[in-house]
Amino acid sequence: MTLTAIAPVLPEIGLAAASRPPDAPILSVVIPVYNEEAGLVALFDRLYPALDSLGIRYEVVFINDGSVDRSAQMLAEQFERTPNTTRVILFNGNFGQHRAILAGFEYARGERIVTLDADLQNPPEDIKLLLEAMDRGHDYVGSIRRDRQDSAWRRWASRAMNRMRHRLTGIQMTDQGCMMRAYSRNVIHLINQCNEMNTFIPALAYQFSRNPTEVIVGHEERHAGESKYSLYSLIRLNFDLVTGFSVMPLQAFSMMGMVVAFFSGLLFLLLAGRRLFLGPEEGGLFTLFALQFLLIGLALMGIGLIGEYVGRIYQEVRARPRYVINAILERKL
Ligand code: UDP
Ligand code: MG
Repeated sequence: MTLTAIAPVLPEIGLAAASRPPDAPILSVVIPVYNEEAGLVALFDRLYPALDSLGIRYEVVFINDGSVDRSAQMLAEQFERTPNTTRVILFNGNFGQHRAILAGFEYARGERIVTLDADLQNPPEDIKLLLEAMDRGHDYVGSIRRDRQDSAWRRWASRAMNRMRHRLTGIQMTDQGCMMRAYSRNVIHLINQCNEMNTFIPALAYQFSRNPTEVIVGHEERHAGESKYSLYSLIRLNFDLVTGFSVMPLQAFSMMGMVVAFFSGLLFLLLAGRRLFLGPEEGGLFTLFALQFLLIGLALMGIGLIGEYVGRIYQEVRARPRYVINAILERKL
């Protein structure tokens, strides 16, 4: 029997349509919010008209990731204004963008789910483009930022990281940093079953998607406020991405250890031979020091790398909740 012949009888993995409430939304837009008071009004003003113009039932799920400014209050006010299309999850503290999105995924009721940042860097009007790609049969739609409006060093670092990620994990993504993406219910259902503490959602979705694609979306400068990612948190996030999807760094390190050991062996033989046949050498001490420091440096890097994995294993076995929810503002269906 050919594959095409079996394909139609494969069961759908997602929630059966029958188990969904009749007035469940078609589209859920999931938006993590952390100290975004300066830009939220502008976001509401553009997001809701853009969604209304789609002409489908939708909901917006905001996750307040422990903001210490007025964001939570502003989200609550928006909920009062549009209770039928707005849900607000209030976290107990700051758990990070990806965990906030995961909470949104767990609570979203839509058949299709779009993630969007709160800072209006990606235009909400482009959600239409993602949905059109889904209409063409794709179950996961990534995005590529047209004329990315971020600082030069971030654009350069992203390009380098994209290349490295592709090599290490084999995951094909043109622009891993763009969070404006659309997911089908099947992909979300699978993501919801993953309990890992630190993850990188776009990469996770790629692993589950059967038919992913990418579309080009607009990108503007942050409308208001500042980026919530420092250099340090960007580095941590990229470690999550690489360690969460590949053990290649560990394997590369043990390969390098073998190569270094082999060359040190050769060097030892060379030095021993020289001493035997030519007598003790003058001034070789510093060369040896330099070599020694190089090897110590490499060894420390290796230990640090193992530490990254061990630390994550530790977090996993402790199995604390990924996030703690204080309250959910929603109208019951
Ligand atoms: N964010 C969050 N928790 C955090 C950091 C960021 O929920 O700890 C949200 C933030 O409010 C925004 C999105 O994640 O909606 C992306 O953050 P940001 O725009 O600062 O990232 P950048 O565009 O600079 O990569
Ligand atoms: Mg941003």
